[in-house]
Amino acid sequence: MAFADRLNNVETSAIRELFKLLGKPGIISFAGGFPDSAMFDVEGISAASQRALAEEPGAALQYGATEGYQPLREQLAAFMAAKGASDVAPEQLIVTTGSQQALDLLGKTLINPGDKVIVEGPTFLATIQCFRLYGAELISAPIDGDGVKTDELERLIAEHRPKFVYLIPTFGNPSGAMLSLERRKKVLELAVKYQTLVVEDDPYGDLYFGAAPPPSLLALSAQVPGSRDWLAHCGSLSKVLSPGLRVGWLMAPPELLAKATMCKQFSDAHTSTFAQATAAQYLKVGRMPATLAHVRAVYAERAQAMSDALRAQLGAAVDFVQPQGGLFVWARLTGAGGAVQDGNLLAQRAIAKGVAFVPGAPFFCANPDPATLRLSFATADVAKIREGVAHLGQALAQP
Ligand code: PMP
Repeated sequence: MAFADRLNNVETSAIRELFKLLGKPGIISFAGGFPDSAMFDVEGISAASQRALAEEPGAALQYGATEGYQPLREQLAAFMAAKGASDVAPEQLIVTTGSQQALDLLGKTLINPGDKVIVEGPTFLATIQCFRLYGAELISAPIDGDGVKTDELERLIAEHRPKFVYLIPTFGNPSGAMLSLERRKKVLELAVKYQTLVVEDDPYGDLYFGAAPPPSLLALSAQVPGSRDWLAHCGSLSKVLSPGLRVGWLMAPPELLAKATMCKQFSDAHTSTFAQATAAQYLKVGRMPATLAHVRAVYAERAQAMSDALRAQLGAAVDFVQPQGGLFVWARLTGAGGAVQDGNLLAQRAIAKGVAFVPGAPFFCANPDPATLRLSFATADVAKIREGVAHLGQALAQP
């Protein structure tokens, strides 16, 4: 069969192969990028879905507006207002089928084959694949523990004049990094200075363990004149409530939002009205703050357990910054004491010892660092985390 040329730009991810092994009984998995299903608020979501059916069956089961179900748009605007973006009107956002669809719509509306897009190195794998599918040439901006290095970012913007810049400023996937306040302001200033759209992907911002992170680029944009015209923001209920609901949202300057809405219409017409009505009911009764407090506490404990275990079991052979939120520890094998320094090799050895994680190299769109690893602490409990990291230590010590 003759497939579209655009498929030549992407390949199925190397990670998929690894995921096939995860079904093996007894494997402790640090591999997935998803929340722990044991923490889903089944009772709250079930009650919300029943209220949706009882109170608004005509809306919950019927076709709906492409922009999204209005009561949900209102609840999402209020949700963002509570996090500092108090001037977002419901009409300034559209509901998307997960934030993944928001990324796809941005690709579809903005990228011509050969256009340059700057992303963090490393970044979310599905973003790399999605933008490449539209023919983007991706340019990698380096990060450190404080997120993207803004001096480098400015140099790259000035040199390449990209179509847009894509960042995960708060607890990045896979990096776990949190962009500092100073750098956040700088990013917004760069957007205005170079008249370049910045896309803020923010599915993890609510999953902080200690003090709240600095305000989102969206919230901060109120303080940087002109920056709102150059900012798109993607949000999601996936990591905090349930990815199965497929409720995300996109906020963007009006012209871009209108084009994205048009593309969404041709794609899925609208996000499931049943899921939207359920999410709206859930947010309306004010259950979210307690849910957030619960998931933050559980993930904080697991992040701590994983960090402690890595230090104890792998010592100088691994280097990482303890995450302050999100779902991931991003680590680098140092090779200390002659230990293996290849993430792929370690992943294979680890599987044989009963533990899975994702090597870091595929998360780079250029110049992959083969010594990196992404370890998710989200789905294993503390005891399993300790056991899994001990196996990892054995895999490192004895092939
Ligand atoms: N962006 C990032 C950075 C992610 O990690 C994910 C999920 N892994 C998504 C977007 C997509 O999430 P969803 O479509 O479930 O909202």
